[in-house]
Amino acid sequence: MFKDYLEVKNYISENNIKIIDFKIVDMSGRWHHLTIPATRFNESILKDGIGFDASSYGFLKVEKSDMVFIPDISTSFIVPFSKIPTLTMIGNIYAIKENRERFEDDPRYLIEKAKKLLVDKNIADTALLGPEFEFYILDQVSVKNDINHMEVFIDSKQGEWNSSSLDSSNKGYTLRNSNCYHLDKPFDASSDFRDMVTLYLEENNIPIKYHHCENGGPGQVEIEVCHGDISEMADRTMKLKYILRSYAALQDKTVTFMPKPFVGECGSGFHIHIHLFKDGEPLFYDENGYSKLSKTALYAIGGILKHSPALMPFTNPSTNSYKRLIPGFEAPVSLCFATANRSAVIRIPDYATSPMEKRFEVRFPDATCNPYYAYSAVLMAVIDGIENEIDPVKEGFGPFDFNLYNLNDEQKSLIKALPTNPIEAADALENDHEFLLKGNVFSKNIIMSQINKIKKDYYKINEMPHPEEFKMYYNL
Ligand code: GLN
Ligand code: MG
Ligand code: MG
Ligand code: MG
Repeated sequence: MFKDYLEVKNYISENNIKIIDFKIVDMSGRWHHLTIPATRFNESILKDGIGFDASSYGFLKVEKSDMVFIPDISTSFIVPFSKIPTLTMIGNIYAIKENRERFEDDPRYLIEKAKKLLVDKNIADTALLGPEFEFYILDQVSVKNDINHMEVFIDSKQGEWNSSSLDSSNKGYTLRNSNCYHLDKPFDASSDFRDMVTLYLEENNIPIKYHHCENGGPGQVEIEVCHGDISEMADRTMKLKYILRSYAALQDKTVTFMPKPFVGECGSGFHIHIHLFKDGEPLFYDENGYSKLSKTALYAIGGILKHSPALMPFTNPSTNSYKRLIPGFEAPVSLCFATANRSAVIRIPDYATSPMEKRFEVRFPDATCNPYYAYSAVLMAVIDGIENEIDPVKEGFGPFDFNLYNLNDEQKSLIKALPTNPIEAADALENDHEFLLKGNVFSKNIIMSQINKIKKDYYKINEMPHPEEFKMYYNL
């Protein structure tokens, strides 16, 4: 939005901005914020930055935890519904040295480094990304008006869970819509909500492709954004979640990107479409290739499929992530690629036929990831695949154009499966991370931290007696 300090200063006075809000992303992909009165915004903030405790962000240890962030004024935006005129900007994280130096694990820095590597290796000059956001919208009942303590409910207008039986008050049946994909109004009860969010996002430089009701029963919806530059898209991903959540809170609603919030219902994926360009020319199209894909696109697919298990600590970092990746819910389970196949890890959309549109979709990620780390890791796998000409066909990754949920024993022995729990994914990353270290994009430190974090979460959850275990074992 802005190029220099003076432009910001002028904007502040001309638009009567009262508050400046800084956003800084932590290791797990959550924004923290720090706020100042607009009158205190000065040039030294852009030079020296503002100090903070980086141990609370997961980056440093408590005994040596000081870092600074410097706002990136080009990211400035206005939150449309804030009561007090507020200018928001995202910060970059710097290590405290004699001169300010970018912190090597700053998520925003990683994506810049990955993009630079793509250019330095002369593979492409532009990586476009198109994420799809699936999530559930739930009614929120705040406890003592506190968003951190709340109970959530499915929107009552959309029916209730497990309610196809006779109502206990004997007045009739409580109905529930099934097959909610593209469900029409008035049953699509959050349509107006999404219209409003769409307008806010568009105003904030996040072009929206479309939004719709998803298959996961009452409350699951999807917003797809138009494809854009990879690092810009990581910022947009953060902004989208923020604007969506903030607007939901105003409406006494809440949204969740948890990959599998409800047993027996579809989970929420975070599919990522990718395509590369050089000098304005698309690199993924070939009239005569499989599904009109170029060799470069196939190698990119090969890189992703080869490294998928190792990517998952970054793309699917929660214990809940692996509860989504099971057969039967349009989430992928098999390590392979195919055209128009929603049970494969990589789907080539059949309807995107023009050279500029030609791309593939990576289906396993979910939105509990840190988008900067996830996008960087996926791009690193693409770079590795293209550099080493990893041919997915020769590697036995397909194409498999059949339903991968119903494999016979022979097919099962041939087709590799995605990791089914965080430990498998952590082990995969431990054994396969050289491709991430290239160009110093990922550090050993961030890789080990991520491995330790997802193992710790896994053991924590695994130690907990599950309510279902009471049903199964209580009376044994
Ligand atoms: N919800 C599915 C997933 O978990 C995707 C469903 C779809 O987009 N058709 O990935
Ligand atoms: Mg979609
Ligand atoms: Mg979808
Ligand atoms: Mg999709």
